Amino acid sequence: MNGRGDEILIIGAGFGGIAAAIELRRHGFDRVRIMEAAPQLGGTWHYNTYPGVACDVPGHAYSFSFEQRRDWSRLCSHGDEILAYMRAVADRYGIEPLIEYSRRVSRCEFDERLGRWRVTAADGATREAAALVIATGQLNRPRIPELPGLGSFAGHSFHSARWDHGYDLRGRRVAVVGTGASAIQFVPEIAPIVSRLTVFQRSANWLLPRRNHVYPPRVRRLIQTVPGLQRLRRAALFGVLEGLTASILHPRTVGRLLALRSSIFMRSQLRDPELRRRAWPDYPFGCKRVLFSSHYLPALGRPNVELIGEPIEELTPTGIRTADGALHEVDCIIWGTGFQTTAPVAPIEVVGAGGRRLAEAWAGGPHAFLGLTVPGFPSMFLMYGPNTNTSGGSIIFFLEAQARYVRQALGHVRAGGWRTLDVRPEVEAAFDAQTQARFRGTAWLECDSWYRDERGRVVTNWPGYMHEYRRRTSAFRPSDYVFAPAATRAAG
Ligand code: NAP
Repeated sequence: MNGRGDEILIIGAGFGGIAAAIELRRHGFDRVRIMEAAPQLGGTWHYNTYPGVACDVPGHAYSFSFEQRRDWSRLCSHGDEILAYMRAVADRYGIEPLIEYSRRVSRCEFDERLGRWRVTAADGATREAAALVIATGQLNRPRIPELPGLGSFAGHSFHSARWDHGYDLRGRRVAVVGTGASAIQFVPEIAPIVSRLTVFQRSANWLLPRRNHVYPPRVRRLIQTVPGLQRLRRAALFGVLEGLTASILHPRTVGRLLALRSSIFMRSQLRDPELRRRAWPDYPFGCKRVLFSSHYLPALGRPNVELIGEPIEELTPTGIRTADGALHEVDCIIWGTGFQTTAPVAPIEVVGAGGRRLAEAWAGGPHAFLGLTVPGFPSMFLMYGPNTNTSGGSIIFFLEAQARYVRQALGHVRAGGWRTLDVRPEVEAAFDAQTQARFRGTAWLECDSWYRDERGRVVTNWPGYMHEYRRRTSAFRPSDYVFAPAATRAAG
């Protein structure tokens, strides 16, 4: 980077992109641009508008440390409240004018001669930048399973992350495929209005209670008026969240305790023995994401709702046929089948030094130093990159740590008058080996989940506590990187 004026390009205006932009601008990086595919900011909170959409991580933890709110309406914020928060924060820090909306980036190529990134959008627009921050997230590409007969279904269908609000579900026979964190939020919302709801479950879930009532006025008053209470609450919430991670890291001790807590709760909600049998998970607690809802299991017990545990065999023009031969006729199928998580950044084509594609570098599964930098992709950073997801914490905590690291790294490049930086391959490889080794003995390896790729590598999650991630990213270490001098064409 030649000086203060060189541009940093961020892809994505969700929490990650906004976190990076705020941090960089606060530290004198004046030329920051964000390219966003959607016509609005918000990322996941723009795209997910399904009934009941909320964050099951409490609002005091699922928000920026430097922009705490004392007026969240309830413990776990609903999607519209989170989106309003994001807009307000973006507005306050002057981020909105930096965003180019409806610009879907299709290609990023590193120009070795210039030491700069050239970014191309689907509409043909091109931008150049001295550094690239890819903040497209892990959960942005909806996944609809390629089931036999998929195209033959003649009814209506949509994915939970692209909810069709123009389709009136009232009085319809509806199928929901999938029972993950999204489905368990919208199933209780739509169950009372549809005529029949058939829920197709491939794997059952471990659940913990979450009622999430609106805070009574006196609780709100307390949070707003008692000095330090907000900070205490946030600290306590982080303690609880780290406890959930402990249950995954130590499945035979802490994990058993939380499994017991979950079992007691689930038993109290599943009175019907047959429904209990079907809705009971057959894998260790914490292997898949633990879900929080006090409304999902009771919804399954409604007279117009049926939980199907038989595998789906095919789709027909009128519905879904299961392996037992039964045909479940429906008017609409809602895919609650999650996201394509094991190839983050795709379908953006990223070409690094020497013409090497990111897809090639990640042929054995995605990996990056601290989830942030990939050898051979100079001055490129990933927000919420490989192995930085959390099963039991707040991703915003991780994003803030990542934004700080990116800012420190680029500050070092700027201060040294360097052109680019590139993580040392041996540093990244050692980090990756150590990360993978740490999954041994944890609950994450005890079943299949969206955290793992087809080889069984855990590619999405951080193998430890949130605080450890912050510690490890808190001080940028120049010795982990090779720096290219500004005036030469050499890569290091
Ligand atoms: P998900 O957790 O990946 O759930 C997808 C569901 O679809 C699973 O039950 C899966 O079963 C099922 N499925 C996939 N392919 C199938 C097939 N071919 N046949 C039958 N069932 C199939 O997706 P999600 O619910 O959208 O959530 C994704 C992630 O987003 C969450 O884990 C969480 O990190 C985040 N999220 C967070 C919140 C929050 O409140 N913080 C809310 C929503 C989402 P298997 O389990 O057997 O694969």
